[in-house]
Amino acid sequence: MDIQPFFIDGSWVTAQAGNQRTIINPFDQKPIALVAEGDRTDARAAILSARKAFQEESWSQMPAPERGKMLYELGDLIAANKEKLAKLETLNTGKTYTESLWDMDDIAGIFRYYGGLADKHAGEVIASPNPHSHSRLEKEPVGVVGMICPWNYPLLQAAWKIAPALAAGCTLVIKPSELTPLSTLEWTRLADKVGFPKGVINIVTGPGATVGAELAESHEVDMISFTGGVVTGKKIMQAAAGNVKKVALELGGKNPHILFEDGDWETAIDFILNGVFFHAGQICSAGTRVMVQAAIHDAVVERLETRIRNIRLGDGMKDTTQMGPLISADQLKKVENHVQTAIREGAHLVCGGKRPQGSEFSQGFFYEPTLITGCTSGMRIVQEEIFGPVVHVEKFDSEKEAIQRANNTIYGLSGGFWSKDPDRISRVSKALRFGTVWVNDFNVYFTQAPWGGYKQSGLGRELGTNGLEEFQEIKHVYQNFNPQPLNWFGK
Ligand code: NAD
Repeated sequence: MDIQPFFIDGSWVTAQAGNQRTIINPFDQKPIALVAEGDRTDARAAILSARKAFQEESWSQMPAPERGKMLYELGDLIAANKEKLAKLETLNTGKTYTESLWDMDDIAGIFRYYGGLADKHAGEVIASPNPHSHSRLEKEPVGVVGMICPWNYPLLQAAWKIAPALAAGCTLVIKPSELTPLSTLEWTRLADKVGFPKGVINIVTGPGATVGAELAESHEVDMISFTGGVVTGKKIMQAAAGNVKKVALELGGKNPHILFEDGDWETAIDFILNGVFFHAGQICSAGTRVMVQAAIHDAVVERLETRIRNIRLGDGMKDTTQMGPLISADQLKKVENHVQTAIREGAHLVCGGKRPQGSEFSQGFFYEPTLITGCTSGMRIVQEEIFGPVVHVEKFDSEKEAIQRANNTIYGLSGGFWSKDPDRISRVSKALRFGTVWVNDFNVYFTQAPWGGYKQSGLGRELGTNGLEEFQEIKHVYQNFNPQPLNWFGK
């Protein structure tokens, strides 16, 4: 296997220290690629390249319609190569190939969307108190952006950052998760074909503690855009304080999915299953916290159990597979610990709660789809993000209680509820303290709608026009057409 190099200053280069990392398939732990393993020296070289490219202005000062055209072309190239990209994503993450194909369609659409936005949102005229003046706001690129990405949606999460940052005129250094760099490296090869000016796009693969930390600390980086866990997010904020760089954080969630007794709970069952078991629950917006009103609680649990027991686990590349493995041995251990803790704290295990039997699963990081009931607010499983195929159900009596309990979390990423009562829909959607609230649906994302969290789920928004504005500085330009002497300090 050849070592896949980084992309710095328009060239494909290996790690300066000569290190490499083996990338494995979480389905069977077989090696699927070798990639260069960078460190702080490589990260510094990439940052300098991005800084030089930003100062040369060949990208930031390129007419915005031309920048947009290149992004649109890249979107087309992603669509044309979606099978190859999707296969890499499935081999590297374990998610089903169908899911990966959806991701790639989504990603192509993101590049086209921001390609279209590149020549809009350039600024606006604002009212000035002086009639002999003109006041305008200009939107300018933030500068050099460091992008630190997670392993659950490797290329999709990167695209949420890359496409708007490029549209704004920024230059970038991307660090994928050390576990899942393959689709982002392949994407970079496509971007290389489009011919962005040298140094605009740089990618360094390697650990968070070195490559990621260098991006967060460097005074040559103007903004850090991070998606990952809340503990890492806090470290990045601290590291970013050195030069007060702009910080955008997409962190974790503990997302309530509430079923009121007047809602169509039979349809909601499908949405609960999708909300939890898609990509084996490794989704920041996973609705692992299901809250059910007392009158329908037992019927919902019974139906959920039947459906959960029928979920087919296996190789993501097989058509019959509905759920793949977890990403790593560490993640599997983490999920097992969460379930064991819940049982110790008094919760009831209805199904799952262990690794599946069978030779097909013996080498992969599989965990059975798990249902837990009898949970109360103080339990760790109710408060902490699991990032695995585990759903727990909590019973509640009144609307007031449901809202109070749903909001009783350090997170505020997303939540949803089911009801047919217009007054209740209006009250509850207003009362829930989350960046996204779904009514009679769950886990719907699209490029046009901003995504991000309240509280410890993050800072800023990705996607939509807000996602572009994150990568823009606002400059107020005030021009006086008729300046007169002030005489304030006398003549
Ligand atoms: P993580 O925080 O462990 O790692 C994320 C990235 O940060 C990786 O690239 C890692 O190498 C890097 N990193 C680690 N330590 C670092 C440091 N000290 N300095 C700089 N970079 C460092 O998260 P993960 O396990 O890869 O991803 C799972 C988490 O991501 C979950 O908590 C999930 O909720 C969150 N997530 C959030 C969203 C969202 O949109 N809000 C989307 C996907 C994932």
